[in-house]
Amino acid sequence: MANAFFTPPIAENEPVLGYAPGSDEREELQATVKALKSQQIDAPMIIGGKEVRTGNTVSMHPPYEHAHNLGSFHMGDASHVQDAIDAALAAREKWASTPWQDRAAIFLKCAELLAGPFRQKMNAATLLCQSKNANQAEIDAACEMIDFFRFNVQYMTDIYSDQPESPLGLWNRIEYRPLEGFVFAITPFNFTSICANLCAAPAMMGNVVVWKPSDTQIYSAQVVMELFKAAGLPDGVINIVYADGPTAGDVVFKHRDFAGLHFTGSTAVFQHLWKEIGNNINNYRSYPRIVGETGGKDFIMAHKSAVPAQVATGIVRGSFEFQGQKCSASSRVYLPSNISDEVLKQVKEDVASMKMGTPEDFSNFINAVIDEKSFDKIAGYIDYVKQQDDAEIICGGGYDKSVGYFIEPTVVLTTNPKFRTMCEEIFGPVVTIYVYDENKYEETLELLDNTSDYALTGAIFAQERYAIITATEKLQNSAGNFYINDRPTGAVVGQQPFGGARGSGTNDKAGSFLNLVRWVSPRTFKENLVPPTDYRYPFLG
Ligand code: NAD
Repeated sequence: MANAFFTPPIAENEPVLGYAPGSDEREELQATVKALKSQQIDAPMIIGGKEVRTGNTVSMHPPYEHAHNLGSFHMGDASHVQDAIDAALAAREKWASTPWQDRAAIFLKCAELLAGPFRQKMNAATLLCQSKNANQAEIDAACEMIDFFRFNVQYMTDIYSDQPESPLGLWNRIEYRPLEGFVFAITPFNFTSICANLCAAPAMMGNVVVWKPSDTQIYSAQVVMELFKAAGLPDGVINIVYADGPTAGDVVFKHRDFAGLHFTGSTAVFQHLWKEIGNNINNYRSYPRIVGETGGKDFIMAHKSAVPAQVATGIVRGSFEFQGQKCSASSRVYLPSNISDEVLKQVKEDVASMKMGTPEDFSNFINAVIDEKSFDKIAGYIDYVKQQDDAEIICGGGYDKSVGYFIEPTVVLTTNPKFRTMCEEIFGPVVTIYVYDENKYEETLELLDNTSDYALTGAIFAQERYAIITATEKLQNSAGNFYINDRPTGAVVGQQPFGGARGSGTNDKAGSFLNLVRWVSPRTFKENLVPPTDYRYPFLG
């Protein structure tokens, strides 16, 4: 036990490297991609620190070049999920009683290893596995993950130092215990940093974790597990299993020690999991914490006073970076009639100038979408639009999966504000634009608010302050992350804590104390320094 109150290093955002031609980072990333591509990995599950191979292998391929084989992972079944729970629970007592500064040191070490020797391996794995270009990999797999580790250490100490008042004669205290049981992390394909954080945040607070990644992210998940190990995370604290979702869920959600779900993914899956947990509620030792960040139908709303070039740039960047496969990507836009022609003209020019292809060629802005299922779904939406009378495709609309899963950045213009692609999450490079009468601003804000079940992110572009104030008020519940004169994506840890409400999730704000506080169960102490010795209160006299 340490006789000191320690202060961790002050968290700072990791600077984003530029990857300009001739830069060291560009050369290092290219060399690492080449090196990784020349090998095939044999990815085991990692349970209690042991590599587990089942022989039931599934091959992995870059989405932009599906003929290339990156190696295979070993698929597990219900017995492996059970083993992972057992390993987590076996590690729990020691990890839960590990001094906080030692837990903090492990994750601070993760941050520094990732900022240095692991950086390009994590970026290269994300480029190959999820088809992210250099910039998208850098802001996710390197910078955001580093920021999660650093800032969460700071938030953890903020939580621990939040203590109650103590009047004279008493000492009141709160300790922030980890949950009694294990946490189940289910992660999406699209952000390597989110996957790491869904495991690391509960683990930092003293919890043990069973992690089920998306099949399409396992290649980069392996590097995350390597990083945890290199930083000294004890065996069994985070266990990774590859099992299909319902199989894993069936074991986990029936377990008495299931203590929390840390989920990011689609709304439908989250709602299904919530029901499963509800169906088993009588079986648990404690009420499980349920944290889920889910889908979005994120908007850009422009006012008649907006600057057209700013709106156009917001649309193009917000909708098409990482092929629109961001929960925060703008996918419905409301343009006022006075500036719509100018905005649309620039959007068309910008989209026409975007190169699409492999992320290994750094001049490509647009790369492939994650897999065939996703490709077919997005292509299905594009085909649907082509058949409708109240919408037209004004840019893109082409797709080709012969080499990789490539879909052109596609802009749909509709005369129907409730057109299907204005309402449903597509999760691809498709944005739908509706032009409204410039004099019907407030009505259009109401329409926007009532159009989707989601409330994740949104942006207002305007020069007039009163227009910004009106939008801020009328759209109070339409987005958990609200942007003013900026695209609705690109949240930075420590700056814009991320999460949405309504159908978009529990809004527990990843990368803030609000998330970490869900992974503790406080115990309050009242210590009477000089306890009374007579039962009689003064009023009895
Ligand atoms: P998904 O819902 O298809 O899968 C997410 C995870 O759930 C995967 O690991 C998957 O295997 C697992 N899963 C699926 N069915 C399951 C079941 N029945 N039981 C247990 N696990 C199950 O999502 P995805 O395609 O990987 O990611 C895209 C989605 O994630 C989009 O909807 C996007 O908006 C959302 N997302 C949200 C945020 C946010 O912060 N709000 C961030 C990233 C992604």
